[in-house]
Formats: sequence, structure tokens, C-alpha cells
Amino acid sequence: MDCLFCKIINGDIPAEIVYQDDDLLGFKDVNPQAPTHILFIPKIHIATVNDLTAETIALVGKLYLAAKEVAADKGFAEQGYRLVMNCNEGAGQTVFHIHLHMLAGRTFHWPPG
Ligand code: AMP
Ligand code: ZN
Repeated sequence: MDCLFCKIINGDIPAEIVYQDDDLLGFKDVNPQAPTHILFIPKIHIATVNDLTAETIALVGKLYLAAKEVAADKGFAEQGYRLVMNCNEGAGQTVFHIHLHMLAGRTFHWPPG
């Protein structure tokens, strides 16, 4: 399958991995939008949030759990951080393997652009 993030999972494309467990991978975004910008992905291919099912939805909870643990480890729990999942082109999704962005280390504004 021609999926960039599946290639990172398989080790075919390098990434700076910061988190790993049986179900998930966390790695640094190559084009960071904040001083800390980490992507958390499931190790199985799910293209968009639209493709989540009752069988796979628990993975999303695991993505959040991993993100909050890494955020706490890096000292961002108190000051805060932003967790984002973009769904489809209109929301800015460019890689079609679901991923949770964890952005930290600066002030964030609302509404987002
Ligand atoms: P999205 O636009 O929500 O689909 O996010 C995709 C993210 O993947 C962007 O923030 C990209 O900078 C990031 N990205 C693209 N290619 C790579 C790569 N090879 N390694 C790490 N991050 C990547
Ligand atoms: Zn994939």
C-alpha cells in the first residue's frame, strides 16, 4: 500500500520515533508547527476519521493516552498543548493514515486557521 505512515511503521522511511507500543507509534513531524510537534498513529492503516468503526475506535483513545503521557513527560501538562486530527482535504489532511497531532511549546489561538 502506498501510504507514507505505513512505510514509517515498516521502517522503509526513517522517522524520529519518540513513542512506541504494541498498537501505536509517535514520531516528530518533519515540518513542525510548534517547538514540539509529534504525530501519534495507529500501527494499522485507517485512512481517515470517517473510516473508524466500533472495532477500531479504541485506538483513538490510545492515541490520546499516549499523547498526554508524552506531553506530561516533556513538561507540558500545566501550560497546555493542542491535540488535533484533521479529517479529509477540506480540514487540511494531507496524509491519509489517521494521526493525532500533539503541538506544544507556544501559545495557541482559537479559532484555528
Ligand atoms: P495532516 O496535514 O493533518 O495530514 O498532517 C500530516 C503531517 O505529516 C504534516 O504535519 C506533515 O508535516 C507531516 N509529515 C509528512 N511527511 C512526514 C514524514 N516523512 N515524517 C514525519 N512527518 C511527516
Ligand atoms: Zn497507512
